[in-house]
Amino acid sequence: MVITKSILLALAALSLTLPVSAHQDGVTHHQNYEGQKPLQDHQHHNDGMPVQEAKRVAIIGAGSAGSSAAHYLRRFHTNTTNAPPINITIYERNAYIGGRSTTVNAHGKASYPIELGASIFVSMNENLVNAAKEFDLTVSSTSSTRPKTVRDSVGVFNGEEMVFVQPYSESKTGKWWSLAKLLYQYGPLAPIRTKRLTDETVGRFLNMYREPLFPFSSLGEAAESVGLLEATGVTGEQFLMAKGVGNGKFVTELMQASTRVNYGQNLGLIHGLETMVCMAAEGAVSVEGGNWQIFEGMVKSSGASVHLNTSVTGITEKKTAAEGDKKVWTITSQKHGDQSVVEKDFDTVIIASPYQYLDLTHPPTTLQKAPDKIPYVALHVTLFTSRRPLDPAYFNLDPASTVPEAVLTTLNVTEQSSETFTRGEGASAVGKVGFFSISTLRQIYTEEHGEEFVYKVFSSEAFGQDRIRKILGVKDEEEAGVTWVFRHLWNAYPYLYPRVTFEDIKLGEGMYYTAGIESFISTMETSSLMGMNVARLALDEVLGVEGKVKAKL
Ligand SMILES: Cc1cc2nc3c(=O)[nH]c(=O)nc-3n(C[C@H](O)[C@H](O)[C@H](O)COP(=O)(O)OP(=O)(O)OC[C@H]3O[C@@H](n4cnc5c(N)ncnc54)[C@H](O)[C@@H]3O)c2cc1C
Repeated sequence: MVITKSILLALAALSLTLPVSAHQDGVTHHQNYEGQKPLQDHQHHNDGMPVQEAKRVAIIGAGSAGSSAAHYLRRFHTNTTNAPPINITIYERNAYIGGRSTTVNAHGKASYPIELGASIFVSMNENLVNAAKEFDLTVSSTSSTRPKTVRDSVGVFNGEEMVFVQPYSESKTGKWWSLAKLLYQYGPLAPIRTKRLTDETVGRFLNMYREPLFPFSSLGEAAESVGLLEATGVTGEQFLMAKGVGNGKFVTELMQASTRVNYGQNLGLIHGLETMVCMAAEGAVSVEGGNWQIFEGMVKSSGASVHLNTSVTGITEKKTAAEGDKKVWTITSQKHGDQSVVEKDFDTVIIASPYQYLDLTHPPTTLQKAPDKIPYVALHVTLFTSRRPLDPAYFNLDPASTVPEAVLTTLNVTEQSSETFTRGEGASAVGKVGFFSISTLRQIYTEEHGEEFVYKVFSSEAFGQDRIRKILGVKDEEEAGVTWVFRHLWNAYPYLYPRVTFEDIKLGEGMYYTAGIESFISTMETSSLMGMNVARLALDEVLGVEGKVKAKL
């Protein structure tokens, strides 16, 4: 039972959003975030001691990493005695908080928000789970809004046939049938070993949240000390072979379907650790109305001064005579639509975006080593509404059946034997099937269009109207009845090639970098963990003396 639950949740829930309640207006991103009031400097007297000068911290990016850095910096600071006041400033290029966690509204209706980026997190994601509780957000299971007309929860399609179909298991009997089917199809060995390996891997990873490992100044060393480099250093394929899970159909069909829907990569490319992360989906949930609310809550709780619609264009080092020849970082920023450029000095800078996407015109020149450019998966997300259900014939299913809620994909048998596909990127990774996943998210009702399905497609190339018509089984535009389409191209996550070293966390004196963790594990939670980690490292640096910190979560 446990095995079934884990594996099926992994498949059913991964990246497939079932958003539930109201939020925003318009079809682009959610409403502009109301900038925070600038923080009051806490320049109090400590028992007659002179007023301490506030330390100025700039955070570039208000996604999971930047928001978490601000939130935990404030929390650690509050729990620290004799620390100078901290003044946090967040710069965010977008009009909203959340980065790759953001929603759009089907038909522009606030009652139908759809996750455009990161859609689920799981029960062991303690930062996100705790923050959702702290900010009183409602989380719900990813199956809570499933369309009632669909009979199966997950299918795995290889472009020729549906190689696995998991029916909804609402009754106890249903569950047992599902287990019987799973074991019948794949045998007990691979699922049981996978479950054990997943638990073991997750257990090792969780040590990174706690002393003595936390805070870690080198991701590679932290990963080594918990024994995870063994998993990051090889491909998923190699790791599963070495651990006795093998390379049978359970791996090439179910597990690969998971790595494809989550990361757009097959098992011959993606490393072993991220492969196991894809199987650790117990308790998959999302925040009603959008996961971005977690990050908005974090930013608010930090008391930071927030500059939305503002791009940082330069980070330069200067020594100021006025400040006793002390090194400071000058941040140059520009609010969109505003011609003027603003310069401000900071003691600490936290870069909370992949370095290559900062687009700095004046990058820091004094760093020993700037972070490398990492190839990211270009992922096309297509959202659309139609009254038509997906066509069973397109998926080679019995015409009387319904297409599963989540159609994941894998390579066909011929492609599976070719490294061009198993190690491929983009269109080579996708194979004949032509997309990574198609999910029927929910049914909605509007006066203009009546009852409709909302669909989400992940693909490596644009998923045009012709392809939409094909999966709906019609030739004619009018028949397809597509009433709303929203397309977005993400630099979604890194290609997770095997590796045992990661980008530096501390780039220089007073400068920290979060995005190196994405080549280790790329999720909202791990970005949050790194945000929390750099918050602690930065505060330790400000305090100057180790052991002076009483910071506890
Ligand atoms: C389609 C998709 C599905 C995903 N599914 C999941 C999932 O189900 N679960 C999960 O946990 N993860 C998922 N992920 C991954 C997850 O979204 C990321 O790992 C995580 O959100 C990264 O957070 P971050 O803060 O590190 O980066 P980001 O969210 O990218 O935040 C960086 C921020 O920095 C800002 N910025 C960059 N440069 C500048 C500048 N010069 N000046 C000012 N601001 C700047 C950007 O605008 C951005 O807001 C998914 C991602 C995508 C794209």
